Amino acid sequence: MLTRLQNKILEMIATGVPLDETVDLLCRTVEEMDPDVICSVLGLDQQNRLRHLAGPSLPSVYSAAIDGIAIGPGVGSCGTAAFTGEPVTVTDIATHPYWAPYKQLALPLGLAACWSSPILASGKVLGTFAFYFRTPRGPTETEQKIVAACVHLCAIALERDQRVAERRRLAETDALTQLPNRSRFNDMVAMQGESDCPWGIILGDVDNLKLVNDTFGHRAGDDLIRTVASRIAIAAEPGVSFRLGGDEFAIVVVGEDSQDLAGIAARVLEAIKAPCTCAEQVIYPSLTLGGAVAGKNDNPEQVRQNADYALYHAKERARGSFIQFVPGLGTAIVKRFRAIQDVTEALREGRIEAYYQPIVDFATGQVASLEALCRMRTRSGDMLAAAHFHEATKDANIAFELTRRMLNIVAADMRRWVDDGLDFGRVSINLAAADFYRAGLTDRVAACFAEAGVPLKSVTLEVTESVYLDQRDQIVADQIQQLRAAGMSVALDDFGTGFASLTHLLTVPVDIIKIDKCFVQRMISDKAGSVIIKGLIDIARGLGIRVVAEGVETGEQAETLHWLGCTYGQGFLYSRAIDRASMTTLLKERRTLGTPLGSAANAPLSIAG
Ligand code: C2E
Ligand code: CA
Ligand code: CA
Repeated sequence: MLTRLQNKILEMIATGVPLDETVDLLCRTVEEMDPDVICSVLGLDQQNRLRHLAGPSLPSVYSAAIDGIAIGPGVGSCGTAAFTGEPVTVTDIATHPYWAPYKQLALPLGLAACWSSPILASGKVLGTFAFYFRTPRGPTETEQKIVAACVHLCAIALERDQRVAERRRLAETDALTQLPNRSRFNDMVAMQGESDCPWGIILGDVDNLKLVNDTFGHRAGDDLIRTVASRIAIAAEPGVSFRLGGDEFAIVVVGEDSQDLAGIAARVLEAIKAPCTCAEQVIYPSLTLGGAVAGKNDNPEQVRQNADYALYHAKERARGSFIQFVPGLGTAIVKRFRAIQDVTEALREGRIEAYYQPIVDFATGQVASLEALCRMRTRSGDMLAAAHFHEATKDANIAFELTRRMLNIVAADMRRWVDDGLDFGRVSINLAAADFYRAGLTDRVAACFAEAGVPLKSVTLEVTESVYLDQRDQIVADQIQQLRAAGMSVALDDFGTGFASLTHLLTVPVDIIKIDKCFVQRMISDKAGSVIIKGLIDIARGLGIRVVAEGVETGEQAETLHWLGCTYGQGFLYSRAIDRASMTTLLKERRTLGTPLGSAANAPLSIAG
């Protein structure tokens, strides 16, 4: 009988039946074999407290009362046995001093005696196995044999259970930081879908981890990760912190606290920023955070996606700080992703083309120069204007590739026009911020036109006011100077949309200013606008800078601009951007565009009013 029981229990252990189920069956079988006894198995937790595992015939109030009691000398039979590692035989609960505090609990339930044996494995106490008797007595010889076998079985079962738990803990813990890892994060997020409790997620990226690794070595990088992890974990409480891998962290906040993600994020950012020593280097940690609160109908996946959008946004716009998801953020980012993808494919498949828009001399209506504008041909053959995929050009790699492609196309087109003996004046090409932040801009451009045999004096590069103003590290200023020194002219594009001032123009001179179309369009209705344009034109003239007005759509605008002293205009009044073949025809015909306005001296003397 005992052998059968042993085999059965060992089989349950081997096949991974849960611990409580296994010891429960053990107790029931023993009680069947010896109806005089009541079995109890208790475990021991990390804090050395007794934990109920099985006791099928013990009243549940009793089991519940025992559960959580700290072990110690004189704490009943089991508490003492667990504490001393020796069996404790109490033949009469009513009189034994170990039971003095507990007998009021046991006696009314008919428990008269208790014999408890420690469950030991590798010299450690894992729990206790106890027999309660209904009469005051000790164990019989047979009972001693049964208990010896049971204690042995329990030791195997408990040890195995601990090993499994430890393995699971290791599998769910990040080795470097000891924080729970991505797998636990996934579980916790999934769990939130099943409750009505409010909750939210904050996702974080450590800034410049790669730089720290590359500059100071991986030991410094690891130290940084560890420091950041422990600071996050403390500051984010009661939120639970996770390390998802690499430089990524996450915080899950459940309950009312989730309604103040910004508050938690602020605490984390504050805690993170103190300098720390990583592999003997002093580093100032910095973290970028994005968060999302679960809305009423959001599933966990959606909340996580939203937090991801917010983090992405923060990394683009607000490194070192926190951005919370708001509806619409996702759409903007998805749109941008799609644009980046579209342009990447178009670049790969050769579907990027250059269109040309003439810049016209107001006085003669003749083409003075051209602006190259990029166009994307869709797979179905439609031609998209740059405004449609402008979002993508904010991506540094795309912008860089796009410029390279445009330079090549434009150089080849210019070569052909030169060969055909056509006069196009100059051609201007738009640059993006990314072009300035890669070394050798002037060399790149110069090499491209040299290869096509096109002189640099017929090349203009357009720099938007926002890039021009971003004069950190002198990089843009230096490059503009270099481009001009190499013989190219530089145009300040979209003038009037930012805050470029005359002081800027004095320190970083340009050859051409292009007045933004919004200025031109406001000019007619808004007299102050025309006064500003007039002042600007006069000063530009004084500095030897040419002025081009953009977005000229009506004859009235052209007349006013011309009267104000502006010499060149660009806009739908004259022509939209057209492909190379159409531009070739236009140049061949030397057609007059719009209505020639004569020289400025013949212009009307007053503007309306
Ligand atoms: P931009 O440099 O200011 O170019 C002028 C834009 O205004 C062009 O739009 C042009 O088609 C449009 N436009 C011209 N005349 C008129 C007019 O009379 N009325 C109105 N409402 N619009 C007019 P597009 O081609 O869609 O280009 C938009 C922007 O995309 C450009 O603004 C430029 O910033 C950028 N872009 C265009 N091509 C390139 C390129 O090759 N490289 C880079 N980095 N950016 C480019
Ligand atoms: Ca432009
Ligand atoms: Ca412009």
